[in-house]
Amino acid sequence: MKKILTVLTVCSLVFGTTYIYADTEDKNIETKQKSVDDKLNKNREEQTTLESKIRDLDFKVKEIEGNIKETNDKIENLNGEIETTKVEIEKLNENISKNEEALGKRLKAINNNYSMGYIKVILSSTSISDFFNNIYVVKQVVEQDQKILKELDENKSEVEKKEKDLNYKKKMQEDLKISLVENNEKVQSDKNELEALKRELETEEDNLQNELEKLAAEAAAKQAQEAQQSAASIDENLNGAIISSGSWPVPGHTRISSPYGYRLHPVLNVQKIHTGIDIPAPKGTPAVATDSGTVIYSGPKGSYGNTVMIQHDNGRVSLYAHNDQLLVSVGQKVQKGQAVTKIGNTGRSTGPHLHFEIRINGKHTNPMPYIG
Ligand SMILES: [Zn+2]
Repeated sequence: MKKILTVLTVCSLVFGTTYIYADTEDKNIETKQKSVDDKLNKNREEQTTLESKIRDLDFKVKEIEGNIKETNDKIENLNGEIETTKVEIEKLNENISKNEEALGKRLKAINNNYSMGYIKVILSSTSISDFFNNIYVVKQVVEQDQKILKELDENKSEVEKKEKDLNYKKKMQEDLKISLVENNEKVQSDKNELEALKRELETEEDNLQNELEKLAAEAAAKQAQEAQQSAASIDENLNGAIISSGSWPVPGHTRISSPYGYRLHPVLNVQKIHTGIDIPAPKGTPAVATDSGTVIYSGPKGSYGNTVMIQHDNGRVSLYAHNDQLLVSVGQKVQKGQAVTKIGNTGRSTGPHLHFEIRINGKHTNPMPYIG
């Protein structure tokens, strides 16, 4: 990317508006990417916040549900207790009516005794003291009955009070349950709302993600197009351009890594005549015609790789081997210093360099006297 930008910057200096426009479009995509990225980050932050809120509400719902269950248990217990008190009250009522009945009989007996009159009682009694004794015993029994009745009544009102209390407690629990259920519904509906919101954010997240992917694809396509354009424009620029005034074949690169003559061949590992000179340079560096002439060969040539050969007016032929690209075609007239190839590593080669030869009458010769 950085490389492409550098190339673009250089090109925009040369070609002006075209590449400034491309650069602006590039920036537009980057700006869009950044904005979508920001939105995505914000979306995810919001989702995290919502998740934590939903968890809190979930916890609350469970708590309330626990409370409702507890209240239900209490109400059930109270119902049991109320049932027990009702049975108790019923028993007491039975007991009371029995006692009242017994008391009534006794009181009636006493009344009858009284209505019979003293004389009759006295006459029927063996003695006056018996009579009074009888009355006394009856009175005692009546008093006892009354005492029991009073106690039963007291018990009854106590149990009734207890029942009332229990009913009150039950009412309280039922009210509590109603408010708990209401609260639970509210929390549940809050939770549902947040969950709906989260689903919306998830959809938005998907859309943003898709948008980012689309922008990335757009940027990649743009980059590929620009790279192609800049490569094409460099070729166009080099094609036919005279970029050197001297006769050295690789302007800016003067080191010779392997001279003309006998040497140990680095790949074949045997003593061999080196038919030219090797000038190392980065792949893509232009090589130029060392003199004006006509291209007589342009194409792959066995271990030479991509090769250009130029016939010069004075009977010499120059040869340029191991190239990455060839910028001229057979029959083309070239000027001294004109770019003819882009250096590479094709054919039998151990790294990007130009293998340069001079041939006279088809025989290689030391090229050094003819260049420089
Ligand atoms: Zn060589």
